[in-house]
Amino acid sequence: MSEAPGTEQTQITTAEVARWVRSFADAVTEAKDELTRLDSAIGDADHGINMDRGMTAVVAALDAAEPTEIPALMRTVGMTLISKVGGAGGPLYGTFFLQFGSGARDGASLSPEGWANCLDAAVAGVKSRGKAEPGDKTMLDALLPAAEALRAALGEGASFASALAQTADAAEQGARDTIPLVARKGRASYLGERSAGHQDPGATSSALLLRCAAEVWA
Ligand code: ADP
Ligand code: MG
Repeated sequence: MSEAPGTEQTQITTAEVARWVRSFADAVTEAKDELTRLDSAIGDADHGINMDRGMTAVVAALDAAEPTEIPALMRTVGMTLISKVGGAGGPLYGTFFLQFGSGARDGASLSPEGWANCLDAAVAGVKSRGKAEPGDKTMLDALLPAAEALRAALGEGASFASALAQTADAAEQGARDTIPLVARKGRASYLGERSAGHQDPGATSSALLLRCAAEVWA
């Protein structure tokens, strides 16, 4: 990435996007027990295990052959997650990465604007696949405010690094804001009112994903 003060000349390369994916795999391994603990409160205690299994398989796939263009890279990531992870989380994260990649028009690199387009496509993919709405206590409650914060930050002329930090902050706030919510989608919805008072595991892992992006491009 070039160190332009504004965002116009910044280019995000495929190798950097791969670094982001790999750093998420490390972060998921580290957060595995915490994610599983959150899922034990309102789900079936497997979110950390699922994500760790999936991301470990993703890293193995990238080690075997790392694609040099962003759509192909994200196809590898997404398809690996869909094929290796059962339940809701795997297909939803798989969709996130597949759609992220299909948002990349110039295959080998992205501008910050292009990155925002990819994130919007990814979030829209999760929304359409899972049919969740904001406030349903899902990963969307971290992803939607994050995508909005990214647009706002870029619109105000923030550097890419600063925009990504604001994106991650919004995602973490969104994840915390799921605590009082009653789940209306996924396994947690079976608990009804008893799902309130716990942070959503998928929103938590989504915030982690966006924090990793902020760290890679810091
Ligand atoms: P499962 O619920 O099948 O055990 P995981 O535990 O891996 O799968 O993932 C649970 C997370 O998936 C939830 O915390 C929630 O954020 C997310 N989730 C579940 N259903 C949906 C949905 N319909 N739309 C968006 N996210 C969802
Ligand atoms: Mg689960």
